[in-house]
Amino acid sequence: MCGIVGYIGKQNTSKILIDGLKELEYRGYDSAGIALLKDQKFDIYKAVGKIKNLEEKVRHNECTLNEECFSIGIGHTRWATHGKPTELNAHPHLGEYSYVVHNGIIENYKELKEELAKAGHRFVSQTDTEVIVHLFEYYFNQSNDEKDAFSKTIARLEGAYSILLITKSLPDTIFFMKHGSPLAIAKGENKDEILFASSDAPLIGLAKDVVYLEDGVSGYAKEGDIVFSEEVTWSTLPQSKQFAQKDGFRFFMEKEIYEQHDVATDAMIGRILDSGIVFDEVDASIIDGINEIKICACGTSYHAGLTASYLFERLTKVRCSVEIASEFRYKEPFLQEDTLFVVISQSGETADTLEALKMAKKAGLKSIAVCNVDNSSMTRVADATILTRAGIEKGVASTKAFSTQTIVLWMLSLYFAKYKHSIEQSEIEKQIQVLREVPSCLKVEDTLHEKCRRLSKRYLHGHGFFFIGRDVFFPLALEGALKLKEISYLHADIERRRD
Ligand code: GLU
Repeated sequence: MCGIVGYIGKQNTSKILIDGLKELEYRGYDSAGIALLKDQKFDIYKAVGKIKNLEEKVRHNECTLNEECFSIGIGHTRWATHGKPTELNAHPHLGEYSYVVHNGIIENYKELKEELAKAGHRFVSQTDTEVIVHLFEYYFNQSNDEKDAFSKTIARLEGAYSILLITKSLPDTIFFMKHGSPLAIAKGENKDEILFASSDAPLIGLAKDVVYLEDGVSGYAKEGDIVFSEEVTWSTLPQSKQFAQKDGFRFFMEKEIYEQHDVATDAMIGRILDSGIVFDEVDASIIDGINEIKICACGTSYHAGLTASYLFERLTKVRCSVEIASEFRYKEPFLQEDTLFVVISQSGETADTLEALKMAKKAGLKSIAVCNVDNSSMTRVADATILTRAGIEKGVASTKAFSTQTIVLWMLSLYFAKYKHSIEQSEIEKQIQVLREVPSCLKVEDTLHEKCRRLSKRYLHGHGFFFIGRDVFFPLALEGALKLKEISYLHADIERRRD
């Protein structure tokens, strides 16, 4: 997942774009860039590695330090899919007189590139993205109409993508399109300001009203005026940035491990009664006529799903299978309408999981999304959504999202169990007692912190690690091994526990 930002307004555009890209750093990236446009003059900066490398370059340009120097701009953090992470391949990409930033993959880029090369267009990067800007210019050269050229361009693209495009002949306008990858547009505090971003984080504090674009929505914006290709819904952004900061911890991941205690409580608030569980957002009758629960997710969420599969079978007494979303569609899966399809994703945007959800929906299955981000794509596709209430998770390796997913799925299995009378009431009450103790078990005391520090020093030079687990702790062993690999780049594997 990379990130996109865009800005139209009178503040220092390069600063707003770079601050926005910093807010998106948690999504992971290998390079970054910005393009600024005013009075038909472009100013471009690109750098490999950290945003601060990009910031260094921008700082050396007097003009961009000058407020109101540029009035519009687009920015990007790249996570390469086509072509190495080099400065040349970093976005924004130039045609002759337009720049584009793109998040996602253009699946038919080879065909388009061949076609455009025959028409005389010259490509300099190895990316799929570059075809977008050439396609735009190809159509613009024919019609001399930017809006028409942009519509024709997006009609030719296949794959998943969010796009921002700027062009010299319309130097006050940003064209946008969303299909598959996320994109939000917000109105700034000053009424003429417009901001674009891949997630809330860069917008909080700068804007109040936001539209989370639906797939297929495109349009263009200039000074306080946004034209959408179809009707959109505005919502209000959270105003506090505080919860998105590190609060004195060295890393977001560390902070988020400490937060598990609080968010575990949040995940349960209003949902636990002594006698059972309630979810206002899902009617328990969704389980009527269901003979199988199929869980679909990737990575850490997949591990939460595996744990849940034990609980759905044990407590709800419904057969439960778990699928890795990235493989799901290639199986050409056999889907039956008596299956309840449950997707799990922190962001609600994981492309493979979203695609699987759409397939299930098309096949007529009932669906539930368990995710952390309201208004995300999955929440809009699924029949019902249960939010995990973990707050913004910025650490690349998931921690508090995993714990809240597990808690929510545990509660969901009990919710269905009560409705179906599949286990004794006394067993439900016993499980609820245990659930109530979870937040205090997740509290990280200083002694635990110290112990972890000592253990990590002792085993730092180990060559390989085995995580061992049985029952619901088997998926936990998988998750532990994944975490060690992701964070330490040490080899780790799992072993099923045998006596
Ligand atoms: N496919 C594009 C590239 O490789 C965009 C990747 C991204 O989303 O960062 O440049």
